[in-house]
Amino acid sequence: MPGRSCTLHSTGRDTLKSMRTAYIGMGGNLASWAGPPAATLAAAVLRFDSLGRVVCRSSLYSTEPVGFAEQPRFVNAVVELETELEPRELLRGLLALELEFGRDRSAGIANGPRTLDLDILLFGGLEIHEPDLEVPHPRLAERAFVLAPLNEIAPEVIDPRSGGTVARLLASLVKGRENESDAVVRVESDRWRPGRIV
Ligand code: AMP
Repeated sequence: MPGRSCTLHSTGRDTLKSMRTAYIGMGGNLASWAGPPAATLAAAVLRFDSLGRVVCRSSLYSTEPVGFAEQPRFVNAVVELETELEPRELLRGLLALELEFGRDRSAGIANGPRTLDLDILLFGGLEIHEPDLEVPHPRLAERAFVLAPLNEIAPEVIDPRSGGTVARLLASLVKGRENESDAVVRVESDRWRPGRIV
């Protein structure tokens, strides 16, 4: 299947003074009130309209749980968002959406099952190091379930931490892991239309 690169919008630089491009990672492996994980991601991305404009969506991916294995596979995707919000305002909005879709942290299992997880992966080429907000996302380079969908829509975008492209991060990660072929698998759903949104 061909890539769906959104390079026209994915330079990672500001297009207008106050408009910046953010890449948001989405994932879930438990049903929410909106339905199974693919339906939750589809419903949640519509709610991003309150945060900015979604200009591109990756495909959905079925991915193996990382860290805590005794749980269902996840559904993951990445979207490109043009936003006028500051990073911290965007994070606040994303955390509110996680709650709206039933995210429950009470079980307290790190990397455990969840209805919806939303992460700021990259934000306008910025590096932020604060106790509750780190951009690029601290585990970006380690997670094929994030890098595969990000690479699908933004392979040439620069990770400001390493100075390399997203494509290079993914290539470094998958090197030597060729036999983990079912870890990250592209899937289709009639609830989710990938590609550029015009
Ligand atoms: P998680 O359990 O993975 O959903 O972690 C959520 C917490 O991670 C949030 O409360 C944030 O304060 C913190 N965090 C730090 N950096 C980021 C980021 N780039 N995107 C999302 N959450 C972040």
